[in-house]
Amino acid sequence: MYNTAEHTQLQDTLKRFIDNEINPHVDEWEAAEIFPAHEVFKKMGDLGLLGLCRPTEYGGLGLDYSFSMAMAETLGHIHCGGIPMAIGVQTDMCTPALARFGSDALKREFLAPAIAGEMVGCIGVSEAQAGSDVAGIKTTARKDGDDYIINGSKMWITNSLQADWMCVLANTSEGAAHKNKSLIMVPMKTKGISVAKKIRKIGMNASDTGMIYFDDVRVPQRNLIGQEGMGFTYQMLQFQEERLWAAANSLQALENCINWTIDWARERSMFGGKLLDNQYVYFRLAELKTELESLRALTYRAGQLYISGQDVTELASMAKLKAGRLMRTIPDSCLQFWGGMGYTLENLVARMFRDGRLASIGAGADEVMLGIISKQMGIHPGKVGK
Ligand SMILES: Cc1cc2nc3c(=O)[nH]c(=O)nc-3n(C[C@H](O)[C@H](O)[C@H](O)COP(=O)(O)OP(=O)(O)OC[C@H]3O[C@@H](n4cnc5c(N)ncnc54)[C@H](O)[C@@H]3O)c2cc1C
Repeated sequence: MYNTAEHTQLQDTLKRFIDNEINPHVDEWEAAEIFPAHEVFKKMGDLGLLGLCRPTEYGGLGLDYSFSMAMAETLGHIHCGGIPMAIGVQTDMCTPALARFGSDALKREFLAPAIAGEMVGCIGVSEAQAGSDVAGIKTTARKDGDDYIINGSKMWITNSLQADWMCVLANTSEGAAHKNKSLIMVPMKTKGISVAKKIRKIGMNASDTGMIYFDDVRVPQRNLIGQEGMGFTYQMLQFQEERLWAAANSLQALENCINWTIDWARERSMFGGKLLDNQYVYFRLAELKTELESLRALTYRAGQLYISGQDVTELASMAKLKAGRLMRTIPDSCLQFWGGMGYTLENLVARMFRDGRLASIGAGADEVMLGIISKQMGIHPGKVGK
């Protein structure tokens, strides 16, 4: 999948950056329940890591999506899930629609600084009453002169406590739910925006998650991305990449989880031998590795087909689903072999057990993936695919 010298160079650069600039601070940032996104992103921007697949006119490198996947996978070396997620939001979740459909002026104002690491972005889709059901969002953007006036709220927004801007999905008309939504760029310092609360979580602690209110927030209509009414479609279009990103991001993290556990089981003495000498233990670890390699094969296949221009809605959804499943079963099985040590806060497998639980919920829950896959298979009672 990552078969060029450029992929290797990217992964080596990123791995060095993680070892020197991120992992030494992860425990502190986890305890603080926030990490210094501006500081970290600026350093990453200086290394050219925040715009791999973005247009060169705005500071990106214009590479194909295999590079984003290579980066997502390498981010799995970070000793927590929250920081990779926050980086992924910046590189692959709040910027794709802006890069594809935004005007030149919008891209200069918001995309170029995000690629340079000078601005932190976030994506505001989910609301308290509408997460899986994106069409059900209630936030509105009503026209007033040359402006939009935004009212409503967004829930669960990664990076939102430190973001400079949010790409907001809002209803811009009363029409059909899939055709009345638009994506609008909103600077977070605009009057009327407030952080309703910082959400405390069971995992992903280094990543800040906020609930944000919009109370008569006025932004110029030129902040609209692409065409009015196309926001839902733009958002759906980028889901293929988001799912590939999520699947690729789980691979290295899961491999580390298995390897750390092998090292531990090899050292841990009990009953006159080592923990690893028990057939149940080494068989289970062999099984987990087999599961991981099946996810890798699926993810790489989906990625390769995507890069060759094919629609991979089905395969990318399968990869996201399988990644969600394995982010639960692999850390859970590994944690068991750590005994009491696996039940401590500072244990990295325990952290992955907590952080990884989100993979089956965020960016499309497992059941949403199953719905898409069954539609693609033509076996869903609703819409028929093939
Ligand atoms: C830490 C964190 C970070 C996040 N970051 C962002 C962000 O940056 N921006 C953003 O917009 N959102 C973000 N989200 C929101 C996330 O995408 C939603 O939580 C997710 O889409 C699920 O929506 P929900 O929480 O409203 O659950 P609901 O939609 O209420 O779903 C609840 C459960 O119902 C089940 N379910 C859903 N659909 C079906 C179905 N069709 N059939 C059967 N069962 C089903 C699933 O088990 C699901 O977990 C984040 C969430 C978290 C927890």
